[in-house]
Amino acid sequence: MKSLFRKEIFPDSYDSLEKIFNNTYNGIAILSLDGDWIRVNNSICQMLGYSKNELYNMDIETIIFRDDLGAHATKYNRLMQGKIDRYRVMQRYFCKDGSIVWFLISVSLITALNGKPTQMIWQFSDITSRKLNQDKLKLMLRVVRDQNERLSSFADIITHNLRSHSGNLSTIKDFLEEEFGWLKDNENFNLLSVAIENLEETVEHLTEVAKIKPIENNQLTSLNLYDYVEKAIYNVMGVAKNTNTSIINEVDEDVNIKGVPAYLDSIILNFLTNGIKYRAEDRPSKIELTTEQDGDFLKLKIADNGLGIDLKKYGDKLFQLYKTFHTNSDSIGLGLFITKNQIESIGGRVAVSSEVGVGSKFTIYFKRA
Ligand code: ADP
Repeated sequence: MKSLFRKEIFPDSYDSLEKIFNNTYNGIAILSLDGDWIRVNNSICQMLGYSKNELYNMDIETIIFRDDLGAHATKYNRLMQGKIDRYRVMQRYFCKDGSIVWFLISVSLITALNGKPTQMIWQFSDITSRKLNQDKLKLMLRVVRDQNERLSSFADIITHNLRSHSGNLSTIKDFLEEEFGWLKDNENFNLLSVAIENLEETVEHLTEVAKIKPIENNQLTSLNLYDYVEKAIYNVMGVAKNTNTSIINEVDEDVNIKGVPAYLDSIILNFLTNGIKYRAEDRPSKIELTTEQDGDFLKLKIADNGLGIDLKKYGDKLFQLYKTFHTNSDSIGLGLFITKNQIESIGGRVAVSSEVGVGSKFTIYFKRA
């Protein structure tokens, strides 16, 4: 059998090189250009469970997992043509005990003095546990995605059915009220009326929440942020005037973000109306919108000089459903929940900083188009 190291040329280093070859943690093998074993180290034998002699007398293809037989072909050709000087492939091998091991194999050439390739060096790393974990993760992701889809359709059906039932209840109540005018003075009937109104409102909120769906990247379109901010400002102009609120649009006119038009409308509108709703009455209120690039993201900052939020106390609840932190009669705690979900479903995120009595700043990270 050919020796890897020429003892007669390197007598001093021969022993230490032999030791390194045999005792490395990874498997190392010398193969002929036809793919026959010429030399293997101890690690390969341990990993596969075969002795050196067993391997030398065996065609390598008999222990390669059938689907992975051609794994080397294209890269090997490129290596032999001198287009690359090494390559890596993943390949499964059968061990002696019948189990399967996943190897990451790095292949390079040994060349003669004239530069012609004579043999190959294969380095084997056992990546079985990494591969199994990846497979488990993929499986879990698929299960989660399936479950999400089922939950989403379930939510659609529930909200649709609830809407028709609560609508029916409301119509029957109106008929009764018309037909039996005296019912308006009946305490129980009035309680029933309020319960039906509450039910309708809750169903309306649930419908809004159920509408938020994850958006695939290819469904996102390029939207000019400045235009959307202008449109939202126009829509709240009346209430801004009545509340003495000035809104300043300093958004970069030339940047586009990736989004969904209806979501972007609702996101900006919600932050603007909150800025107005939670203004401080003792000073003219101001909302400023600015942008800043941050790698692949565009930050839209919406800063107001309103009441502020006690983030130490409420920070972890801020974006939760039905959480409100001021005593306004029309506070519901739905807007920020929906807005955060809409931002995340188009690949963004939202951050907040705030000081009670000074104001709040919401920073929305949008993917740049
Ligand atoms: P809503 O305004 O209907 O309550 P949101 O979900 O938009 O719904 O807001 C949740 C709560 O967060 C509000 O009730 C308010 O207490 C607080 N909040 C939201 N935006 C601001 C803001 N710009 N300034 C101060 N407080 C705010």
